[in-house]
Amino acid sequence: MWAMQIAEQGGPEVLGWVQLPDPTPAIGEILVEVAAAGLNYIDTYQRSGLYEVPLPYVLGLEGSGTVMAIGADVTAMAVGDHVAWPTNPGSYAGCVVMPADKAVKVPDEIDLEVSAALMLQGMTAHFLATSTYPLGPGDRCLVHAGAGGVGLLLIQIAKLHGAEVFTTVGTPEKADLAEIAGADHTILYRDVDFAAAVADLAGERPLDVVFDGVGKSVFAQSLSLLRPRGMMVTFGNASGPVDPVAPLELSANGSLFLTRPTLFNYLRTNAEMQSRADDLFDWVKSGDLDVRIGARYALRDTAEAHRALEGRATTGKVLLIP
Ligand code: NDP
Repeated sequence: MWAMQIAEQGGPEVLGWVQLPDPTPAIGEILVEVAAAGLNYIDTYQRSGLYEVPLPYVLGLEGSGTVMAIGADVTAMAVGDHVAWPTNPGSYAGCVVMPADKAVKVPDEIDLEVSAALMLQGMTAHFLATSTYPLGPGDRCLVHAGAGGVGLLLIQIAKLHGAEVFTTVGTPEKADLAEIAGADHTILYRDVDFAAAVADLAGERPLDVVFDGVGKSVFAQSLSLLRPRGMMVTFGNASGPVDPVAPLELSANGSLFLTRPTLFNYLRTNAEMQSRADDLFDWVKSGDLDVRIGARYALRDTAEAHRALEGRATTGKVLLIP
């Protein structure tokens, strides 16, 4: 099979298109022919060296496809099933093996591309809005990078739970997408000071929670927008990792809560993963959640896709097709 592998960490040029032996499923595993691999920001951190990985390493954590073979003791899945998964290393490949309990079955009504898009980014938006800070009617939240993969899904899920959504985006085209997703207030943070804009719209310290996947460039100002005892959720580093924070800053800003969640800790069991997937699939089926596939690249053109994501040129989900 062909796969996109790195032998060293660095820029997009380290991505290598290599031929590897076809994998076979061991006990409890399934072999899947990949229909679509999802591109996620974490893939760029694993490629660049911000996050450590064992080398050589086939990138990609997320995808969807068709079960081609099953190992001994697999009873929940059968050859021919459509499946999708959020966190299985090696997904930038024609085939992948994984423990059967790390994948979910895709309902007949949902196509494989949409299901791939719902896994890592969808489950992230789900856990942020329902577990990290369970949003409810009247809550006011700020979603940074609202036209991104996580952003467009998080805005919609926040609206489903009755929250008022402020969002930041890089371009007017991205603002249109965030508004279609349901954002109540959209701020072009490359043109205006977003903290001043939020305060103009809603007064001093109006927010219950900030969901921040942008990191370094927005973190400090975001703290200044939270109400006393509000929650700062820093969940990504698109603009670079956040600088160290002294606990006294949380006190000075109103006894704030600060958390740095990661999806892996919110998918601790198969049941937890399945229940997040069930909600996401149900919302797609009922028309409450729209999944935007912003771009598709051939898997062998992954370097181009990484450049577009890191260059802020993508919207919604980017898929890599083997
Ligand atoms: P996105 O599709 O949101 O792409 C990143 C966006 O960040 C860009 O489109 C851009 O939007 C914005 N951005 C702001 N500043 C920069 C910058 N300097 N360089 C690049 N982009 C910038 O990516 P994802 O949906 O895949 O991920 C969003 C964030 O969520 C990432 O930080 C990711 O690591 C994090 N994440 C965390 C998870 C967790 O478990 N903790 C799981 C999944 C994602 P704009 O042009 O509008 O500014």
